[in-house]
Amino acid sequence: MKLSNPSELKRIIEKHGFSFSKSLGQNFLIDQNVLDKIVEASGIDENWGVLEIGPGAGTLTRELAARAGAVVAVEIDKSLIPLLEDTLSDFDNASVVCEDVMKVDLKTLIAERFGDMPVAVVANLPYYITTPIIMNFLENEISVKSLTVMVQKEVADRMAASPGGKDYGALSAAVQFYTDPSIICRAEPHCFMPQPKVESVVIKLSVLDSPRVEVANRRFMFDVIKSAFGQRRKTLLNALSKSPYISLEKQMVAEAICEAGIDQGIRGEKLNLEEFARLSDIILKKR
Ligand code: SAM
Repeated sequence: MKLSNPSELKRIIEKHGFSFSKSLGQNFLIDQNVLDKIVEASGIDENWGVLEIGPGAGTLTRELAARAGAVVAVEIDKSLIPLLEDTLSDFDNASVVCEDVMKVDLKTLIAERFGDMPVAVVANLPYYITTPIIMNFLENEISVKSLTVMVQKEVADRMAASPGGKDYGALSAAVQFYTDPSIICRAEPHCFMPQPKVESVVIKLSVLDSPRVEVANRRFMFDVIKSAFGQRRKTLLNALSKSPYISLEKQMVAEAICEAGIDQGIRGEKLNLEEFARLSDIILKKR
């Protein structure tokens, strides 16, 4: 069964009387090349567990189950469950959990289903929930080795951006604090059924053993980052001294920037994570 073949996918969909839901972002992959690249990038073998989010008809799930030790796929749409039972029937290492991934206790699910196995997350999700899901894994330190996800091209560019560029922002800093991002491939609208309006990119986020920089108060550093990027056209000094998250007089902010060895007139978008960490530690001591 090759579900990347559009006529095969249509046959299964018709057999189960399934109809696509726009609100659940159901655009199923029909490009074998992209599927191969996702599986390859995830770096899995029979020792690995895979948590797939949003299996749809099971196209990617089948490819993952052929390589991994175990695959658990979380799918919100009840009407896909009989279809998935059919398409995954020849894999005894794949199982489906019918839940909203935003509501599942992922730590418990991973511990129960995968035990000591290293775990990779693979997902082709509706774009509006991809970033909250990724940040949930990272901020709550849910123990997974990597997340290989299909995202809207603009989001991938922001996640992988370096300081100073137009795409560098709070999302770049947050993702790069926890992971090493690498862009795997593009997926044009014709790679999906039905075709989405936007261009997509597969990005792999390899989770670092420990966050990229040491910082006294992580949450406060992200407040500083949010403040610096909230007012992009202002200098760092003006953006931070006007920020409700910082609440420190301009003179004190100026001193902190100076003590951190950062140029007063710089804009926040030029700072790397080391500089944000150093600066937020100094500001915190002055408050
Ligand atoms: N992985 C399949 C593929 O590549 O062909 C389907 C991808 S489709 C873009 C997104 C899938 O995520 C759909 O099957 C949809 O029902 C499911 N989904 C949407 N929101 C979800 C949620 N909150 N939790 C779990 N699955 C969700």
